[in-house]
Amino acid sequence: MMNNQDTWWLEKYSHVHMNVFGTPLRVLDHGQGAYVWDIDGNQYLDFLAGIAVNSLGYAHPDWVHAVSQQAQMLAHTSNYFASVPQIELATKLLEITNAPKGSRVYFANSGTEGNEAALKLVKLHAHEVLHNPNARIIALDHGFHGRTLGALAATWKPAIREPYEPLMPNVEFVPAGDIAALESAFEAETPVAGVIMELIQGEAGVQAVGGEFVAAARALCDRYGALLVIDEVQTGIGRTGSWFAFQQKELSGGIMPDIVTFAKGVASGFPMGGAIAFGDNVARLFGPGLHGSTFAGNPLAAKAALTTLQVIERDNLLDNVVARGQQLRELIATCGNSLFTSIHGAGLLNAIELSKPCAHAAMQWALKHGLIVNAVTDHSLRIAPPLIVGEQQVRDAVAILAEIPTDLVCD
Ligand code: PLP
Repeated sequence: MMNNQDTWWLEKYSHVHMNVFGTPLRVLDHGQGAYVWDIDGNQYLDFLAGIAVNSLGYAHPDWVHAVSQQAQMLAHTSNYFASVPQIELATKLLEITNAPKGSRVYFANSGTEGNEAALKLVKLHAHEVLHNPNARIIALDHGFHGRTLGALAATWKPAIREPYEPLMPNVEFVPAGDIAALESAFEAETPVAGVIMELIQGEAGVQAVGGEFVAAARALCDRYGALLVIDEVQTGIGRTGSWFAFQQKELSGGIMPDIVTFAKGVASGFPMGGAIAFGDNVARLFGPGLHGSTFAGNPLAAKAALTTLQVIERDNLLDNVVARGQQLRELIATCGNSLFTSIHGAGLLNAIELSKPCAHAAMQWALKHGLIVNAVTDHSLRIAPPLIVGEQQVRDAVAILAEIPTDLVCD
């Protein structure tokens, strides 16, 4: 297979882009289902799905048809006008979350913007309900909420947060799973306005924070009058086997959040995100002029998302996520590769733990052998195929993973 176009384009890439991503792995050209091809014609089985974004895989016919048709009718309106897909999508999101009366959706264009909206609601809660603008926000060690300045303030990893400090003040971090630490954070003199957390921390290596911890956070928020924000940017829209991860008791303790944020998989590759405020008390904090974005709820993005949700429902993809996730974990656990110490996750959001810090080399090896996975930490590979992935494709992926050499050189 020729490899020269890829090299040529990547060289050009490096001269025209700011270097925030390093050199991309390949230049991709087109995809179909769970497969994608690079510009030199090499085929890959994609078990990363654009980092848990391409829910329906590449070029799903219903998605292509709906987006093409919407593009011919109405791509953008501004928020001075509404569109039917936008209203239908908000209605559907409230339906699939069993949202109580008075709940409302805010649309954004990405995960970080969904979290900005949630953090602004928490700030408004501090002002209007707690009457204390300095009320604190609690986030978790190893949590990731995005790279805009508000969401970044609640993002733990020092290497990406510290170069931009000082950030939004009054954000504190507690270790995930440490109920005593959370309790003492609440007991400090300045009140807590909100807690923001993921139920499965992606950047920590796909680690669940645990239902007991989440239930404790809910109870503390109730006792002290704080809002509980669950960031489901990665875990939402079927990724873990239910529409949202908070709907699974072992992940959430069976609680109902005050705000849930979503993005990534919602529109299966079209930029879209947002926040759902549960109940009128939270939803009404946003009044006219208090937040907004030119593209938010754009009809093209809304149609892409609505179609994604409809296909997930029509094709029982939540059942597929549960079955394929189970299959993947069983096959990896018995594949005999001694580099793998364990596999954990929920649905189709999983990580394989490695016995040594060679995840980058393992990811590169898999790529060379036609499989896309992701080194989410030095020690773990994130596996997040599209929700449409088939039984044979899971077997094919595991067959490649099983062959990763154990004597890889760690970088
Ligand atoms: N929150 C979580 C849990 C995420 O995983 C991500 C992205 O990886 C974000 C927020 C930020 O989303 P985006 O990159 O769309 O801004």
